[in-house]
Amino acid sequence: MADSALRNRHVPANLPERIQHYIDGQPVDSVDGDTFEVLDPVTNETYVRAAAGKKADVDRAVRAARTAFAEGPWPKMLPRERSRVLHRVADLVESRDARLAELESFDSGLPITQALGQARRAAENFRFFADLIVAQADDTYKVPGRQINYVNRKPIGVAGLITPWNTPFMLESWKLAPALATGNTVVLKPAEFTPLSASLWAGIFEEAGLPQGVFNLVNGLGEDAGDALVKHPDVPLISFTGESRTGQIIFGNAAPYLKGLSMELGGKSPAVVFADADLDAAIDATVFGVFSLNGERCTAGSRILVQREVYDEFVERYAAQAERVKVGYPHDPATEVGALVHPEHYDKVVSYIEIGKGEARLVAGGGRPAEFPTGNFVRPTVFADVKPDARIFQEEIFGPVVAITPFDTEEEALELANGVKYGLAAYIWTNDLKRAHSFSQAVEAGMVWLNSNNVRDLRTPFGGVKASGLGHEGGYRSIDFYTDQQAVHITLGKVHNPTFGKSA
Ligand code: NAD
Repeated sequence: MADSALRNRHVPANLPERIQHYIDGQPVDSVDGDTFEVLDPVTNETYVRAAAGKKADVDRAVRAARTAFAEGPWPKMLPRERSRVLHRVADLVESRDARLAELESFDSGLPITQALGQARRAAENFRFFADLIVAQADDTYKVPGRQINYVNRKPIGVAGLITPWNTPFMLESWKLAPALATGNTVVLKPAEFTPLSASLWAGIFEEAGLPQGVFNLVNGLGEDAGDALVKHPDVPLISFTGESRTGQIIFGNAAPYLKGLSMELGGKSPAVVFADADLDAAIDATVFGVFSLNGERCTAGSRILVQREVYDEFVERYAAQAERVKVGYPHDPATEVGALVHPEHYDKVVSYIEIGKGEARLVAGGGRPAEFPTGNFVRPTVFADVKPDARIFQEEIFGPVVAITPFDTEEEALELANGVKYGLAAYIWTNDLKRAHSFSQAVEAGMVWLNSNNVRDLRTPFGGVKASGLGHEGGYRSIDFYTDQQAVHITLGKVHNPTFGKSA
């Protein structure tokens, strides 16, 4: 390790000596005692070992979650009672946001200011679903004089939650909050690159008063612990966020059990800049849109399509601004791009940069910053004149790398925007009202932001089309995913039976 990395890294105080599972209210090791190494992305040294869960551990966790569902108070509690617990969770997360951000930033390499924002978002997810579950109403249908039919909404059982490493704690909260709010019990399998912040949930839930066995956590590799969760017959629901390829594997593995699946997958989202756009705002937003969260962001606007009239000016200004984005140690509040999560991921991103150099014109960045000889640091990298069949145009890189492509007409822009297998987000920049709406509606993306950065409204649907996902969560859609809606029909007045078998 280079001296500079050693000198400048920040190691949080009181790191755990080991990371364990949490099953039925107890921290536990793996049944077979196996562990795996967890690295910090600034030095790539192992700073802790985490329990490596396998089928036996998942079986234990599911058993605990099933018992808590069948025999415990949680599913039967009034929404207001569950809501109070979830609000306490939100209060605790808020009160610990600085510590959470410190641990998350250390473990994942995210810049500390952005990790803090994600910690607050996690609290907000809990608050939002705590409110929603109390406001929740279900439909009743009247057939005058004959029937009343109503929806009896019920929690489903044990929800399996499988999450990625890019904003670990926040994405865990995005699944935990609605799954718990609706009365399910859960087994969480967090990403193996970043298990540190997930280990805080147990203490938070205990303090908030969540009954024992409702929340269970199994660490481990995807192909072991994740796979066992997906194939467990007593887990009727899997909510997964991760790569499209992993989603396909999970889809196949869950098929024999006919599980409920929610899949939030990869992206290669376009930002389309028309010549009439507010160029200053578009440049600021598209720089932030791909370089925030180290570019490890599913909704990153990683392809920027720019109308020919403003293309040269855009590329020049964009490249200059990207060069000024501050790469730094994750714990430094001035840092805008930190260290990528893991050396394997670093290698992947850098290999795409090398591919890009053969496919397009490099106008900013292009590899490791000279001042960081070690660690997973990458300069914000911009390629211009990228052809639509280039790999850096088509494939998700998931790092601080952007492809810029010119277009002439609206039709061409739409074809380029839709010309990839993904369909998660799209960002449209234009001041033409009609075009803004018609283009937004035609673009193949689950979410569109018009003259806007990625600003979430938790009530709106979240999810992708094509290879970017299956099903939408967000607001009441999350409530729908985590509940069964049973239809109950009641006769009023006279029973209206067609009669069989009455004639002699
Ligand atoms: P990944 O697919 O490698 O892993 C995600 C999770 O799945 C991890 O917990 C992993 O251990 C587990 N897993 C891996 N193989 C498994 C298997 N066979 N069975 C069960 N579980 C398995 O993804 P990643 O590299 O951690 O995350 C990055 C990806 O996530 C990117 O593609 C990104 O776009 C996507 N993502 C999507 C969204 C969204 O909302 N659409 C949000 C964040 C990230």
